[in-house]
Amino acid sequence: AGPGDPDLLTFRALRLMQQADVVLYDRLVAPAILDMCRRDADRIYVGKQRADHAVPQEQINQQLVTLARQGKRVLRLKGGDPFIFGRGGEEIEELATNGIPFQVVPGITAASGCAAYSGIPLTHRDYAQSVRFVTGHLKDGSCDLPWADLVAPSQTLVFYMGLVGLPVICQQLIAHGRGADTPAALIQQGTTSNQRVFTGTLADLPELVASQQVQAPTLVIVGEVVTLRDKLAWFEGMAKPE
Ligand code: SAH
Repeated sequence: AGPGDPDLLTFRALRLMQQADVVLYDRLVAPAILDMCRRDADRIYVGKQRADHAVPQEQINQQLVTLARQGKRVLRLKGGDPFIFGRGGEEIEELATNGIPFQVVPGITAASGCAAYSGIPLTHRDYAQSVRFVTGHLKDGSCDLPWADLVAPSQTLVFYMGLVGLPVICQQLIAHGRGADTPAALIQQGTTSNQRVFTGTLADLPELVASQQVQAPTLVIVGEVVTLRDKLAWFEGMAKPE
């Protein structure tokens, strides 16, 4: 489903959305996008919310199999790209095991969407030669990330699901040697007309979350590239899409 703006769907996604008999969709899928599915398709909400998986993953996997066995054309509609922190792999493993044919449609992942719409290029020859997508979702309350790798210079970090763990993330990056003054950005509801962007540093980002009441879904971008936003921001100045 891409990152939010319906214009960022692929033609292929749209075509399949209009053919599906039944659609299983997540919380991240905007209503405007769901509306573009075939009008008489059954819609099943299998929302995923932090610490409150509306439908357990196992059950979703099984549901896909059951519906397909009934001869239905089943569409699994997920935010962003299904193979980036989307559990798309787990779901089609189940289909593969059960001999059910499937296809995967790539989508614009939140990192690409938020970067473009906030004017923060993820790589730039002067600032970052690589970019790393990291999950900040702390499975057991602790944050077990390869910190030593994450503080390498000239690297942009993009944290998905990083809001709750943000204080730990910033503190650990600084403790492992990334400067406390490293530029960082928060992009809430990127690409949508509700997009909010906050910039600061590793040192003050957690405070921003509290003072600005930043909420999910929010993407965190860390690295020198964030400074480019001052010059490259464009979306805020545009007329809001209807
Ligand atoms: N498969 C999705 C990611 C799912 S994980 C993708 O490729 O984009 C969910 C996380 O994605 C959220 O916690 C948030 O960090 C990020 N995210 C998704 N959509 C977003 C949006 N429109 N704006 C900001 N962050 C977003």
